[in-house]
Amino acid sequence: MTFDELGLAAPLLRAVKEKGYTEPSPIQVEAIPAVLAGRDIMAAAQTGTGKTAGFVLPILQLLSATAPAHPHRLRSLIITPTRELAAQVQESVVTYGKHLPLKSAVVFGGVKINPQITALRKGVDILVATPGRLLDLYQQGEVRFNELEILVLDEADRMLDMGFIHDIRRILKLLPAKRQNLLFSATFANEIRQLTRTILHDPVEVEVSPPNATAELVEQFVYPVDKKDKAAVLIQLVEERDWQQVLVFSRTKHGANKLAQQLEKAGINAAAIHGNKSQAARTKALAGFKAGKIRVLVATDIAARGLDIAQLPQVVNFDLPNVPEDYVHRIGRTGRAGATGKAYSLVSADEIKQLNDIQHVIQRHLDREYVDGFEPDHEVPPSAPIRKPQVHGQARIQQHHKRPAGDGQHTSRGRGSEGHNRPQQRNKRPGNRSSRPAQGGNTR
Ligand code: AMP
Repeated sequence: MTFDELGLAAPLLRAVKEKGYTEPSPIQVEAIPAVLAGRDIMAAAQTGTGKTAGFVLPILQLLSATAPAHPHRLRSLIITPTRELAAQVQESVVTYGKHLPLKSAVVFGGVKINPQITALRKGVDILVATPGRLLDLYQQGEVRFNELEILVLDEADRMLDMGFIHDIRRILKLLPAKRQNLLFSATFANEIRQLTRTILHDPVEVEVSPPNATAELVEQFVYPVDKKDKAAVLIQLVEERDWQQVLVFSRTKHGANKLAQQLEKAGINAAAIHGNKSQAARTKALAGFKAGKIRVLVATDIAARGLDIAQLPQVVNFDLPNVPEDYVHRIGRTGRAGATGKAYSLVSADEIKQLNDIQHVIQRHLDREYVDGFEPDHEVPPSAPIRKPQVHGQARIQQHHKRPAGDGQHTSRGRGSEGHNRPQQRNKRPGNRSSRPAQGGNTR
């Protein structure tokens, strides 16, 4: 399948080619023709799947194909939960639309509103926005929705997690009833399904497994350690294994700050990135990390979502997330595009519940290994046996054995028909670690 075959116009094909893409990703193959046909879409896909181009390319095409009543009036609105994601999506709009006469802008909170007002007054066809700032601008009379044709809700599950549901409902009431709706979400839990029912009209369902969440390209390890030793263990791992670029996840903002300080004290360049940091600080930290100046980026789950950092060799879970699906998102940051990645989880005895929940979601037990010199005083209790997966309701993680050639992702239509195969456990272990099998039974 090529981009030509998806029905994209020449200016978009040119932009895609200049960006260096040779073939569309699975979600692009599914989403682009459906959006071009004017259909609503409900897509289960997350960062790393190429979803952004999956909606930006056809939106650009639809908007450029029809002459609007007035040029540069808002015709497509893309709502995202975080500033980082909003900025990245707008960057994509600019990149893919560079040979088209359409204008775009991005608005989000935490920065001055006046430059955003100036940009809006010049007229835009496409606006990328976070919910709160969008409502502010609407209330100030700086944005009008009466000519809106296409709405995108990106990372809808995350918007609900972050408490944006009321803002979203308020925004929806302001929009013309007749419009095309595209909804993207990593998971489709009940709350999201309810929302989709009120928004989407006869949607095409698109489902793509998260990038390498299937563990086939990500080797996953649990390191049982005492809570008090976690920072020291991380420092030892970074130094001993000479990790040059590692993303570390922390459940809390405070924990992220503290850890970054401890790393700095140990002589390891580190920065924390989370919701309480200013936009400027976050952008600086991310740029430093990408440029190799910062070796360890400590991030909370929300801050890490939507970060466009691809193909990290390893990620570390400094603590386990309370929501097991976040574990899948976290490890999806490594092992992309065919490269093998490693995900290490530092687990203390009090995290056994989170560990069991994760193992249930991924439908396997994770190998436990012990870091020399840091064998825990408080052993992590044995894992619970793996329960049967839920088929309905809460989000399910798809497991695929067969991967298509290309970018290593797999697409399937329709939900419920596959998944839950238990992948083979990996036997590879780093040589200098003592290793015991996962406890608690049926791992193979
Ligand atoms: P996204 O899932 O939209 O955040 O995209 C993830 C990454 O994949 C981004 O860095 C994109 O630039 C890249 N990407 C998107 N589409 C393609 C494609 N067809 N081929 C190669 N890379 C792509």
